[in-house]
Amino acid sequence: MPEQPSQWIRNFVDGAFLEPDPAHVFDAVDPATGLTHARVHEADEQIVDRAVRSARRALAEGWADSTIGDRVAVLRRAADLIEERFDDFVAAELADTGKPVAQARTLDVARAPMNFRAYADMVAATGQESYVTEPAVGRRALNYAVRKPLGVVAVIVPWNLPLLLLTWKVAPALACGNAVVVKPSEDTPGTASLLAEVLAEAGLPRGVYNVVHGFGADSAGAYLTEHPHIDGVTFTGSSATGTHVMKTVAPRVRPVSLELGGKNAAIVFDDVDVDEVVEGLSRSIFTNTGQVCLCTERVYIQRSVFDAVVAGLAAKAASLRLGAPMDDATTTGPLISQKHREKVLRYFDLAVEEGATVVCGGGVPEMPAELNGGSWIEPTLWTGLDNSSRVMREEIFGPVAGLVPFDTEDEAIALANDTEYGLAAVVWTNDLRRGHRVAAQMNVGLSWVNTWYLRDLRAPFGGVGLSGIGREGGESSLHFYTEPTNICIQL
Ligand code: NAD
Repeated sequence: MPEQPSQWIRNFVDGAFLEPDPAHVFDAVDPATGLTHARVHEADEQIVDRAVRSARRALAEGWADSTIGDRVAVLRRAADLIEERFDDFVAAELADTGKPVAQARTLDVARAPMNFRAYADMVAATGQESYVTEPAVGRRALNYAVRKPLGVVAVIVPWNLPLLLLTWKVAPALACGNAVVVKPSEDTPGTASLLAEVLAEAGLPRGVYNVVHGFGADSAGAYLTEHPHIDGVTFTGSSATGTHVMKTVAPRVRPVSLELGGKNAAIVFDDVDVDEVVEGLSRSIFTNTGQVCLCTERVYIQRSVFDAVVAGLAAKAASLRLGAPMDDATTTGPLISQKHREKVLRYFDLAVEEGATVVCGGGVPEMPAELNGGSWIEPTLWTGLDNSSRVMREEIFGPVAGLVPFDTEDEAIALANDTEYGLAAVVWTNDLRRGHRVAAQMNVGLSWVNTWYLRDLRAPFGGVGLSGIGREGGESSLHFYTEPTNICIQL
């Protein structure tokens, strides 16, 4: 029997970590090795209820009325403390996800303090709407809107970029004076609990940030979204779960923000520099082992450069280094779990059944003995499929893309938009006018030209169709996490 790990990942309620209950426990597994690295205390219904009540109490005890200056000071201090404990966050992120240390340092953990600072800046700088109204000649009224926090916000996040996505929601929620109950993914519980330590040290009053660990159905996720005293839900995850969350919250008519799945397209026109495009596409297909909601899974390539782009991408895929997360040379980690790998492998089989030509990959790589228990997968590219195949329509969420030739601009636009999802698209072209024209015709929330995942945190972020409802980022977040009361005064 392998030894039980001694490390516990604990729930954080009303400003304190709860004593773990060995009767309610699940394993935190390192996806790079398959080994359990910690035990997680699963929150039952009572713990979730305590978390929600403590959040409500914290609002009443003053957080909802705190000054913007006070909140900004806490957010900035939190950003500084994350940087002071940078290596702890990197270690927790690596243990949970198995992702390469170079990526965790430059993307995942680096974005957490940026999220706190960005919303500290925005909330400090944002004014409020006001209008001078002239109801009749010689009369005037002043209308202005006062924005109040929503209240207790449930924050539910997935496993792919756990700390980045958590802080993306927690920072604006706190900036606006809300209290939160956070439910991280059962696959990546570590960083949410670590953030509790940092926020407490930053001076956040007790009860404003709570963490409950567990699963979805019949567990912490469901207890939280079903709770009658939740004032809003911000959810990032799959479209199927998002639909369920929306239905759960609907009878009580609470605001929901849903950032969901994607089946994102890239379009490559033949006026491009092929090497530059191959570099960019390999980032958008393979970053985080394809487990970013914005990753490209469909690539439409103009016929005259099709073979060159396919060959370039295959060479790139072959050059990726799968390996130990702590190795600086590793570029590509494992999938998040064996369960997710089984799902991705079923799509690999289905692609072949549907007539794909496998350009590269398509299976499980050989790894050194110490990594053999991990959920490793080969970067994979297909040609020979069209939009009628299931693998070109359903989100796979792995390091994989189908490559399809096209002839005309109109055809490319129609192919890219032929999906129920609508999160992100990338247009590769050196024709300025075509770049603007095609990017604007993508039915998505985020359209890039000649780049990918270049983000300005003030810009709106979100999707259409099955990819979500609402926008976060910048003012959109400040609006989601507040309710305006309009005041009209006869002058
Ligand atoms: P998931 O939907 O399975 O789980 C997301 C979260 O919801 C987890 O914390 C989970 O425990 C919880 N949950 C599950 N069932 C629930 C229920 N019935 N009630 C309440 N909570 C429940 O998603 P995942 O597999 O963790 O993440 C991958 C998905 O997330 C992909 O579809 C990806 O595209 C999407 N995603 C979207 C964005 C975006 O910004 N649009 C960003 C990252 C990931």
